[in-house]
Amino acid sequence: MSRERVYRTRAIILKRREQGEADRVLTVFTPEMGKRAFLAKGVRKSASRKAGHLEPFTQTSLLLAKGRTWDIITQAETVYAFRGLREDLDRAAHAYYFAELVDAFTREEDSHPEIYDLLLSGFHRLEQSPNLALTARWFELAMLKLSGYQPQFFHCVECGIELQPQTNYFSPEMGGMLCPRHGEGRRGAQPVELNVQKVLRYVQSRPYAQVMQLKLSPARLKQVERLLGGYIRFILERRLKSPVFIHRLTAVAR
Ligand SMILES: [Zn+2]
Repeated sequence: MSRERVYRTRAIILKRREQGEADRVLTVFTPEMGKRAFLAKGVRKSASRKAGHLEPFTQTSLLLAKGRTWDIITQAETVYAFRGLREDLDRAAHAYYFAELVDAFTREEDSHPEIYDLLLSGFHRLEQSPNLALTARWFELAMLKLSGYQPQFFHCVECGIELQPQTNYFSPEMGGMLCPRHGEGRRGAQPVELNVQKVLRYVQSRPYAQVMQLKLSPARLKQVERLLGGYIRFILERRLKSPVFIHRLTAVAR
């Protein structure tokens, strides 16, 4: 990046918090600079022209001025608003989860253009998705891959043999599946039935359009969600807030 005082970038808004009387600090994800925090001055005043261009999930084009603690947003213009995500509570909850995952898996100022692209396509797909849970599992696996935590579902992570069509075991600690010989009785390893393994492999290795053709029972999808959620929690060593929120929503809807 140049030393100029003013620069422009695209960004997706991940989250925001209030600062002082009328300002906000926005955590955003950019194509070139990865995750960054910027100061948006005066955006909580009703006359602010920037505010509408800085809503959560918005893809925006920013003009920034170098500041001491935070660089300051001097202009903001919406590139794509993702209105479909904000107007639907269930889609919004999933979008929060995607943003939270990206936030949790990245550090500030590490450049990750491929994660920017993933988040952008993730939001577009979420906006259109007929099966939010399946889109979320695809996103989780894509995010794990890009962050270097791709789980191994095809071979035993202990002995390397190709897994047989049978109940095998998953170990978050080992980052993948174990054959019965190495998985049975191992602490932290859980049995995974064959049909769940098939879904995991399919979602991990097929293009998104094919993944979305899968017809899965809610129970099967739940098993996949639990396994991936457990793995992600293990990696992040803390429970993310959004999955809890999504579950609460689902419970309310019932
Ligand atoms: Zn083995």
